[in-house]
Order: sequence, then structure tokens, then C-alpha cells
Amino acid sequence: MSNSSRRRFLLNAGTTALGAVLLKGCLGNPPEPGGGNTTAEQAAPVELSPEMVPETTQVKLGYIPIAEATPLIIAQEKGFFAKYGMTGVEVSKQANWASARDNLVIGAQGGGIDGGQWQMPMPHLITEGIITNGNKLPMYVLAQLNTQGNGIAIAAAHAGKGLHLDITNAADYIKGFPSSAGRKFKAAYTFPNANQDFWIRYWFAAGGVDPDQDIDLLAVPSAETVQGMRNGTMDAFSTGDPWPYRIIAEDIGHMAALTAQIWRFHPEEYLAMRADWVDQNPKATKALLKGIMEAQKWSDDPNNRAELVSIVAGRNYFNIPAEILTPPFSGIYRMGDGQPEINDFKMGPLFWKDDIGSVSYPYKSHDLWFLVESLRWGFHKDSIKDLDQVKQIIDKVNREDLWKEAATEAGFTSDIPQSTSRGVETFFDGKTFDPENPEAYLNSLAIKRI
Ligand code: CA
Repeated sequence: MSNSSRRRFLLNAGTTALGAVLLKGCLGNPPEPGGGNTTAEQAAPVELSPEMVPETTQVKLGYIPIAEATPLIIAQEKGFFAKYGMTGVEVSKQANWASARDNLVIGAQGGGIDGGQWQMPMPHLITEGIITNGNKLPMYVLAQLNTQGNGIAIAAAHAGKGLHLDITNAADYIKGFPSSAGRKFKAAYTFPNANQDFWIRYWFAAGGVDPDQDIDLLAVPSAETVQGMRNGTMDAFSTGDPWPYRIIAEDIGHMAALTAQIWRFHPEEYLAMRADWVDQNPKATKALLKGIMEAQKWSDDPNNRAELVSIVAGRNYFNIPAEILTPPFSGIYRMGDGQPEINDFKMGPLFWKDDIGSVSYPYKSHDLWFLVESLRWGFHKDSIKDLDQVKQIIDKVNREDLWKEAATEAGFTSDIPQSTSRGVETFFDGKTFDPENPEAYLNSLAIKRI
């Protein structure tokens, strides 16, 4: 498609007929086996020294068809897994987060998966048996897959009400729903107690809206949420690319905020695997990690983004027109509701490096934030009781040591962080999270359950 015809496509993307095509392509597709776009140019295999030959070449990795899955798909399609001897990787589309979790419990030998893409802190919760009916299945967090690429969408019915990044002045409008609309303001995410739940909770609470008391916040499938936003029964949606683009293009509503605005370069989704698979296959694990790292480096080169989009948009992966993915992968977001368009490559999804540090390296300080935020909201309070226990779980689950070994073997030594902490994190409302003093962060928050 030429630049001018792409531009025309983007301008016309809100029309009804095309909107219907986009919806058809995006909603409710059954999972398909991975693999597929064999047209991508493949990386040449490296000669493996005996200590780097993987114990197995076979592994099955689950993914959800959103921007976060990019490193898994690129490592497969560009030959980066095969480059390090992992010639039998299967990248397997999962219907949703709950089935990814259930397939992990089954394991690849039973027709499930060995690991893959996760929201946080799912690996920690599965390790502790908290979201697996008490069945403790140890997992290891191996790498972060991406930063950013998520956001909060608002139904078109609320245009002009000031539901943007800072909702302090819209808090009364939201809290007044029971008297003005006869019901509470309703917001959704796709899986409870994980990233998209945390992002929308943070955003509501920063504006003075208590997500547990002032509104209804619940887990709803994406397609159902979008339908609810169209017909007036759903008000807000915490979601990831490519949905933010489609919310605007299909006149479903506007974007209140990108997660890149809420917490610049925040941790997003992760590569994590069953611990038993990693313990049995440490060399294969490092080979997988090297493939992911190469895919992440490749994906962050702006010159590769057009090819990246053509690969992940393919029928075997996201199965949507490439034109839908081009703007977010270029850092272009129409926000709607009178807000300026964002056009900054570094506000979109990034995979290897950002302006603060490594994207790929799994900082323990980020695991800590997700579990401290779980304490804040009183999640799992019968199972995870305090910060000491949180730190023990992180030390068990986080395998940043394997990441560093793999990065060293691949020759990426200059990109290895000096510390397991990224240091003090700053949010859009001025709050700070010092990993050395999480109690101070908790104390600083007005709305919390502890
Ligand atoms: Ca996400």
C-alpha cells in the first residue's frame, strides 16, 4: 500500500462497512496452531559450542494475540529461536488468560503448554497455587516481553466529561452514576488481579475514585466489553494494542490515557515457564532467551517495524489487517475527545531498551511493585500476607540470573543492568515507588485496602 493510500485508509477507518470488517477479523477467532508466515527472512544459525547445545529442541509457548506477544512471534518467524538450536518451538495462540493458565497446568506433554506470555503476577500466583485451585505449580519469570502498548478506553457516551489522564475533576460525574443513571459506572478488564486490572485501578484511584466502592469493576471478555461500550452498558475498558486504535477508528469511544502516560516505561507482560521444564532444560531455556532477546532487539529498530507488522498481523497470529497495527507500532495514537494526537515512537510498545534501562531484563523491583500493588488492593490476602512473604516469592520465581547468563552468552553484555532494581519509579500523579521502601509507597496512597 502506498503512503497516500495508507493515509486514506486510516482516514476512512471509521466508516461502518470497514468497521464491520475489522470487527469480524478481530473478535472471537478460535485458537490456531502457531507457525506460518514462512516468507520472513531467517537468521543464520550460530555454531553451538558443546555447552550450549540444548537438551531438547521442542517446546510449546502460549501467547495472546496482542502487541505483548511480538517477541515470541518474531523469534519464531525470523529464525531467532532456530539460530540457537531451538528448531522445534511451537508458538500457540491461547483463547484467553484463563485457558493459558489451564494449558500450563496440563503441560505440553498433555497437550498444553510449557510456558509463554503472562500478565503479572500470574507466574507468582500460579507458583503459590492461588489461581490454580491450590495446586502449586512452580514457575520462573525469565524476561520481560515489552513495555507500554496498553491504555484505558472510555465509551463515546462520556465524551466531553473530562475523562482523560487526570480525572480529578470528573470524579463526581463518575461517582454520581447511581443517582444520574440508576447504576454504578461500569469498567472492565480481561483477567482479574493482573496488569490491566492494576492500570485502571491506579488511574481511578489517582483521580479520587475508589475502584472497589464507587464503581463496578469486573472481568469481561474484550468483545463483550466493546459491545457494551457501543450499547451503553459498559463505560470503560482497560486494554492493549490494537484495541486503543480500534476504539477510535470504530467510533466506540476515546482513550482516556495510555499506560505510557500513567507510568512511563512501566513493566508490562513477561516470558515465564514451568520451573520443571527450565530445571530439566537449562541450556534450552537460555537458547530460548537468546532467541527472545534477538527478537526484541530486532523489533526495536524502527526500520523493522513494517516487516514486524506484516508478520504479527498474519492469519496465523493476530489475523487482522496490517493497517490496524501500523499506527500503534509507530507510536501514533489518536486519543479522541479533543485531546491531541500522540506521535512518538517511544510512547508505543518497546521491547529491548527504553530511556530508563532494559525492557527485556526482569527487574526484581518490578515483580515487587506488582505484588505490593496486590497488597494495596487486598488481593489474595489469605495467601500473601506481608512484604517478607512477597520477597520470598520473588526470590523463588524471578530468574534474572538466567537472563544475565543468556545475555552474556549472546554477547549482549553491555545491555546487562547493574542491579536487580530499576530504582525509584514515578507515576503521572507524582507518587513514587521506592523498591527499598515499599511501605512509604503504600503509606502515600489515599485509596487502598490495607
Ligand atoms: Ca497487557
